[in-house]
Amino acid sequence: MPEIPVEKIIRSRRRTIALEVTPRATVIVRAPHRVPTSYIEAMIREKRAWIIKKITEMKQRPQAAAHRYEEGEIFWFLGRAYPLHITDETSGAITRTDKLVVSRMLEPDIRNAIKRWYVAEAHTEIHARCMYYAMMTGYSPASLRISDARQRWGSCTSRGGLNFSWRLVQAPLSIVDYVIVHELVHLRQHDHSKKFWAKVEELMPDYRQRRDWLRAHEQLLVI
Ligand SMILES: [Zn+2]
Repeated sequence: MPEIPVEKIIRSRRRTIALEVTPRATVIVRAPHRVPTSYIEAMIREKRAWIIKKITEMKQRPQAAAHRYEEGEIFWFLGRAYPLHITDETSGAITRTDKLVVSRMLEPDIRNAIKRWYVAEAHTEIHARCMYYAMMTGYSPASLRISDARQRWGSCTSRGGLNFSWRLVQAPLSIVDYVIVHELVHLRQHDHSKKFWAKVEELMPDYRQRRDWLRAHEQLLVI
């Protein structure tokens, strides 16, 4: 029997065990602090058929190609494709026109330069949308942080702060909005209960299509 590739076990104050198959075809386990490891192992054995099915699906998905940072290569921002264009101008800046225009001065460390650009842009966009939805819903985060997460688009801390991966800003604005609303509702409702989804639906009646888009595009997370 093939070994189940468990990437990590995350212990927290949650009350149930959740198994997640990542876009990297590994398993992440989320479990309460006190549950013994032997119990988690038994659960993985019990769910084995489901896990293997999911892993196979993940492996068959189109994988996002790692960026090579070459002229014309596509970078996604708010659901639009921007071909990379490296210019000779010496400002040392990155600008977005109909292309992602990067000064040649940044070329030696272009990977980090573009990532920093995404983080800054993600902060601007996500902060503005989050404030808008906080006003609409009355759910207000204690803090907002842009993370480097590859596992999840957004998360909610026990202190009422929200984290969003900068990678989210590759997705269309309607999808960014869904992740924001999802996390804002978690400020009041920490689980994925019926009550949680009912509240999400009340705020965003078409959330299912948006959620499906994210599930189909999880490979953007690995970029
Ligand atoms: Zn959630």
